[in-house]
Amino acid sequence: QATLGVLGGGQLGRMFVQAAQSLGYRCVVLDPDADSPAGAVAHQHVCADYLDDAALQQLSQTCDAITTEFENVPAKALQQLAAHTWVAPAASCVSICQDRVAEKAHFVASGVACAPYAVLRQPNDVQQVPDALLPGILKTARMGYDGKGQRRVRDRAELAAAFAELGQVDCVLEQLLPLQLELSVLVARSRNGQTVCFPVQQNLHRDGILAVTEVPAPQVSAALQAQARESAVAIAQGMGYVGVLCVEFFVLGDGALVVNEMAPRPHNSGHYSMDACDIDQFEMQVRALTGLPLREPRLQSPVLMLNLLGDLWFDAQGQERTPDWAGVLALPGAQLHLYGKAQARPGRKMGHLNISAASAEATRASAQAAARLLGLPPLE
Ligand code: ATP
Ligand code: MG
Ligand code: MG
Repeated sequence: QATLGVLGGGQLGRMFVQAAQSLGYRCVVLDPDADSPAGAVAHQHVCADYLDDAALQQLSQTCDAITTEFENVPAKALQQLAAHTWVAPAASCVSICQDRVAEKAHFVASGVACAPYAVLRQPNDVQQVPDALLPGILKTARMGYDGKGQRRVRDRAELAAAFAELGQVDCVLEQLLPLQLELSVLVARSRNGQTVCFPVQQNLHRDGILAVTEVPAPQVSAALQAQARESAVAIAQGMGYVGVLCVEFFVLGDGALVVNEMAPRPHNSGHYSMDACDIDQFEMQVRALTGLPLREPRLQSPVLMLNLLGDLWFDAQGQERTPDWAGVLALPGAQLHLYGKAQARPGRKMGHLNISAASAEATRASAQAAARLLGLPPLE
C-alpha cells in the first residue's frame, strides 16, 4: 500500500487525505498543530515544525510521494524532501507562488496580462512609483491571504503610511482595477506535461474572503472562459508545474481578462468540484502526484458553493450558537462539508455548502433558501 505525505494540516489537507484514502492510499500529515483538521483523519500525524530535520527524514522515508496543502510551507522543506522522494509541486514552483514579485514576473513571462504594478522594498521607493498606479492596492509580497497584508491607498501620502504600517517589508503596489467580476481556473498538470482544466468558476468575495462560487460562471462568455483556461495552462507549463494549480483572474469593466494571483494547490473556489464533478480537485491532486491518469473532469450539474465562516457560529449578540444544519440538509441538492475545527472565530473557514440542482435557476433558488436559513447575505 503506497503512502502519501502532506505538508500542512488544514482543511485542504484534510480533503486531500480523504480523497487519497478513497483511492486506497495511506496518508501522513506533517503539521506543528496537534489538533489539525487533516491530522485528525490521516493514518499518521507527525506533529513537528516544517523544518524539523527528524520529521522531514521520517516523511521522506515513509512516503512514496509528498505534496503541500498551503503555499507558505518553507520551500527548503520541499527541497530537502525532494532529495529522497517524489515531491509535487516542486519547491521552485511553490517559491514563485509565495512571492508576489516572482509571481508577477512569471505571469509577464508567460504572456498573461496582470495589473500594472511596481515593487516597493524601501521607503524611498514610494517616490518612484508612477502616478498611474494610484489609487492602488499595496500588498505584502509574502504571506498574505484572505485580504490580509493589503492596504488600499488613494495617494502617495497614504502609500507611504501603508508601507510603514505593513512593516516596510517587500511589497507590490497594484493599480486599483475596475472589476466587473472575479473568476478562477483549476488546472492540473501531470509529470509528463499533460494538462486538464476544471470548468471556470465565478467567485464573489466579501471583505477580501471568498464567499460564493458559481459554476458554470453565469456572466462569463465561452470565449473568455477559453482564454482563462489557456492562460492558466500557459502559467502552469511555463514553470513545469506538477499538480493542481489554481489561477485567479479579474474581468475588468471593459471585458478584459487580467490574472490576479495563483495558489500551488487545490483551492477554496474549487470545492464545488467535490459534489458537481466526476473527478474533484483533491482526487485530481492525488492523480497528478502519483502519476495516475489525468482526465478532463465532467461537470455533472450546475453548482453553487457557499463558504461557511465562523461568523455563522455567533448570533447578533455575540453568543455562540450552532447553525441550523438540519434545516440546510433538508434543502434539495445541498451537501454540507464541515472541517472539524473545534473553535469558531469570525472569518475562520469552518466548512462549505455545495448546492446543486438540475438547472442554474433551481440551484440559485436552493442557495437563496440556504443563505436565508444560515443568515448569510442574499445572493445578488
Ligand atoms: P486569497 O485568500 O485569495 O489568497 P489574498 O489576500 O492573496 O487572497 P488577493 O487575491 O490579492 O488577496 O486580493 C483579494 C481581493 O481584493 C481580490 O479577490 C479582489 O476582490 C481585490 N483586489 C485585489 N487586487 C485588486 C486590484 N488590483 N484591483 C481591484 N481589486 C483588487
Ligand atoms: Mg492569495
Ligand atoms: Mg486571491
